[in-house]
Amino acid sequence: MGIRIDWGRLALERGYDTPRQMLEDLYITKGLPLQSVADKLIVSATAVRHAMLAMGIKLRPRHQILKGPSCPKCTIQNSRVIASHPFGSYMIRYRICLSCGARFKTKEVVVCERGSTQGHEFRSESTVDGQ
Ligand SMILES: [Zn+2]
Repeated sequence: MGIRIDWGRLALERGYDTPRQMLEDLYITKGLPLQSVADKLIVSATAVRHAMLAMGIKLRPRHQILKGPSCPKCTIQNSRVIASHPFGSYMIRYRICLSCGARFKTKEVVVCERGSTQGHEFRSESTVDGQ
């Protein structure tokens, strides 16, 4: 996807001086999940992630609430579940990335909240199987 976002304008419209200040406030100070920050700014979670990485804002490695887990190899959230195995309070899912073909495993916890669009919390174990 060609992402061309005017972060400076987004920040000014929301009363921040800089995009960095805006993202740090939403993601770090307010502790919003990446997807919620993206929804608030009406941009994609991938765009927010890229912007934060570019600005040197540290992403939370765990507890990232996403619409789907990111591929540990190419970071794109576009995978297909090959197999699911319940494992105590978790669900272990074997996935294949539809972008780069990497196979990886996720440990999933359901955090289903009523009225929430995000029904799952994905904790990517970042296990790339095979090559
Ligand atoms: Zn991938």
